[in-house]
Amino acid sequence: NSAVPPKVGKEENLRSPICCIMGHVDTGKTKLLDCIRGTNVQEGEAGGITQQIGATYFPSENIRERTKELKADAKLKVPGLLVIDTPGHESFTNLRSRGSGLCDIAILVVDIMHGLEPQTIESLNLLKMRNTEFIVALNKVDRLYGWKTCRDSPIVKAMKQQSKDVRDEFNTRLARIITQFKEQGLNTESYYKNKAMGETYSIVPTSAISGEGIPDLLLLLVQWTQKTMVGKLRYSDEVQCTVLEVKVVEGHGTTIDVVLVNGVLHEGDQIVVCGMQRAIVTTIRALLTPHPMKELRVKGTYLHHKEIKAAMGIKISAQGLENAIAGTMLYVVKPGDVGVEDYIKAAEEDKNSVMGRIDKSGEGVCAHASTLGSLEALLEFLKTPKVNIPVSGINIGPVHKKDVMKAGVMLEKKHEYATILAFDVKVDPEARELADELGVKVFTADIIYHLFDQFNGYMDSIKEEKRREAADEAVFPCVMQIIPNCIFNKKDPIVLGVEILEGIVKIGTPICVPSRDFIDIGRVASIENNHRHVDFARKGQSVAIKIVGEEQKKIMFGRHFEIDDELVSRISRRSIDALKANYRNDLSKEEWSLVAKLKAFFKIQ
Ligand code: GDP
Repeated sequence: NSAVPPKVGKEENLRSPICCIMGHVDTGKTKLLDCIRGTNVQEGEAGGITQQIGATYFPSENIRERTKELKADAKLKVPGLLVIDTPGHESFTNLRSRGSGLCDIAILVVDIMHGLEPQTIESLNLLKMRNTEFIVALNKVDRLYGWKTCRDSPIVKAMKQQSKDVRDEFNTRLARIITQFKEQGLNTESYYKNKAMGETYSIVPTSAISGEGIPDLLLLLVQWTQKTMVGKLRYSDEVQCTVLEVKVVEGHGTTIDVVLVNGVLHEGDQIVVCGMQRAIVTTIRALLTPHPMKELRVKGTYLHHKEIKAAMGIKISAQGLENAIAGTMLYVVKPGDVGVEDYIKAAEEDKNSVMGRIDKSGEGVCAHASTLGSLEALLEFLKTPKVNIPVSGINIGPVHKKDVMKAGVMLEKKHEYATILAFDVKVDPEARELADELGVKVFTADIIYHLFDQFNGYMDSIKEEKRREAADEAVFPCVMQIIPNCIFNKKDPIVLGVEILEGIVKIGTPICVPSRDFIDIGRVASIENNHRHVDFARKGQSVAIKIVGEEQKKIMFGRHFEIDDELVSRISRRSIDALKANYRNDLSKEEWSLVAKLKAFFKIQ
């Protein structure tokens, strides 16, 4: 067994804290990870840094070496630091591990030139939701105009080397960003001034390019976690393990990448994992980690292990993992345990709590996300009152044809809900094709609220389209009186001067004469007010209207109706429904009561 065994801190038997990196796109998350890893990692695990599955392990000796200029090393009690490798995945802070987040601490990266950005705020909300501690890396300080590079130097020392102008600009930007955090309800302060850690979040200025502030960031991460999380970080034999990703790997079939937070895993262990349909009970066929030599790693060969101890990122190969759900807990059935039922129940609990949020009415959009955690965040968001989008179906992982078909069921029920909101997942090209064919909308985004914007825009366009379609059906209520001496044309078409006694007359309104057996005389084709064409006229106005009737009826003023006959819009059950559905807010209270009056008048049920 040639794996680098993760060490356990000697004195207090602590495990390594687990850290993830979050923030807006382009703030430098990837670069920061590269920088703390050191460029030589790829060449062979320099300084004991080990590439694991989905994570990088930094032993405490490495951290001590890199922070020695800060003269604060002495008591590093944790064996090292495990940093999750996929930066930017909000999902990773929201991975479940025993009810709390998988990550013990997060680095929230903010670009000093841009301040807080939309995804920063989304990350903040996730951190709050999972109650995860975090440190702000205020990155790209080297971009301050006139910055003098002090490679890999502690930030206070680097700052002393800068001109007054640079320091002034830095202070102005820092102050602005502290204010922005305050607007989000959070107190922050540069870490070297922060006297109330715990209440006030620390900001570490960094450059991922020239390395200023990186020692500070590393030290703070380790000090803070071991100071405040000793209980949580105590090594335990009880297995605590979270599924990061479900992946197909040549020669291994479907595998799961996991982070083993605590305990030991063995080849042959019976495990229980949450599955899309039901819990998966299977046996570990192989425990895999990347090969320490880069050349071999590229070829995709893995090291096999008989057993692996926490904390560690591992690939597990086993049968039946096809439907495993990322972001859930993995359980090990201990030999001698009576039944697996309890584990199955536990494995399904998380899933059920999330699945239970689907709209009971069966009408709503489909929500897709990469992990159970990110799906939960998406559902949480869609449920907030200002958003309020009902969800009828959910899934985890890429969007496939069958998902489009499922969403297509809504086409019959509620057309606009035949929509898939895909958060941070890929859409299979075949699925995309089918969606276009069926008329199912698929919106994709890496930021949750962009999905909301897209869906909202779509809803607005649908509303507008419906209004246009309904214009023919929806009849506005009106009662008109013919003005004497204003009969401009008696037939083909009839043109009359009228006063609107009540309601509103619109182009297209069908007109009838109640006093003459409700005879229908035609639809309003145009309206003129003071020789100007208008689309509608309201109570109190006097206008000329042109009424075009059906060819064969040949309705004529003077024969079928007279000057004293009132003209009323012809409404029906259908027209009232169309009016309610599309023009509810376009009518005044008085006009709605006229609708009610006419309804009674026409004896509409
Ligand atoms: P991510 O999207 O957050 O992972 O951002 P990347 O790490 O890909 O960085 C985005 C861009 O910013 C790249 O062009 C980086 O080279 C650049 N960048 C990242 N960190 C720094 C930094 O500290 N200083 C400067 N000047 N550029 C940086």
